[in-house]
Amino acid sequence: MAIRPFNTENPVEKSIAGALYSRRFPHAVILEGASPEERMSLAKNIAAALVCTNADAPCGVCPNCKKASADSHADILLYSVEDKPKAFKVDIVREIRSKAYIVPNEAERKVFILENSHTMGVEGQNAILKILEEPPAYVNFILLCSSKSGFLPTVLSRSVVYNLGQTSSSEDDSLPREKILDAAKGVALSVTELNDFETVKAAAVFEKDAKLLRESLPVIQEIFAASLRIKYNAEDENSEFGTLPSVLAQKLSRRSLLELIEATDLLMNSIKLNANHNLTVTALCTRLRKAI
Ligand SMILES: [Zn+2]
Repeated sequence: MAIRPFNTENPVEKSIAGALYSRRFPHAVILEGASPEERMSLAKNIAAALVCTNADAPCGVCPNCKKASADSHADILLYSVEDKPKAFKVDIVREIRSKAYIVPNEAERKVFILENSHTMGVEGQNAILKILEEPPAYVNFILLCSSKSGFLPTVLSRSVVYNLGQTSSSEDDSLPREKILDAAKGVALSVTELNDFETVKAAAVFEKDAKLLRESLPVIQEIFAASLRIKYNAEDENSEFGTLPSVLAQKLSRRSLLELIEATDLLMNSIKLNANHNLTVTALCTRLRKAI
């Protein structure tokens, strides 16, 4: 990755460059927001600046900068995991800790770049906290994440957070609309079946997918609302749902539809209150069946 001078037109980079220049760069920084590529590019630039031997770091021409640029500097250690919950395992954190206590090879500093560090669980964060509290003088940590919200307050209090701007849409990880529609329509239709088990079957898609449940519930509610509008002879403008609202309007009473809408409200609320996911899926089945 090419090493470049900091862009001092950008307030965040200007502040980073200032801290580096005054040799008061924090031991731990969190770079949040923007795109994964932008975060990594900035992290590598900071790392190069930290190992660079020239005053206008990163100079791009000293041996340290050249190695940093070729991703082959022995004192810049990159740990990269997938953006999945708990992907940053506590074992990796323990390895980082033990390496951090070994003095740098060729530079004056040793820099750890931790990509997708927000995927650390509580155990991992507590493990990293031990070294953030008393880091060896030569160590820097650069933690990369889409949002700092996953970090414990104790970790945040030991770090300086640089927000690089809104998370880019390439990382917008909302689910495909089709998947949400399929799940929502399946559950909505299941309430017209006589057997309770049909709803359990339809809701099985949510069992291991809290996000799908969270994003489908408002759609399920919207389907029932569309059916209710048909009951009141109002136009149904939502073509996304096809004939489903009409089918439901034929089979369900106004009262049932109202209760179904209420039930989805309660479920959305319990998700907001961080209710246990499996219990919420079970509650979805029982509440919807009770409403009809
Ligand atoms: Zn240099």
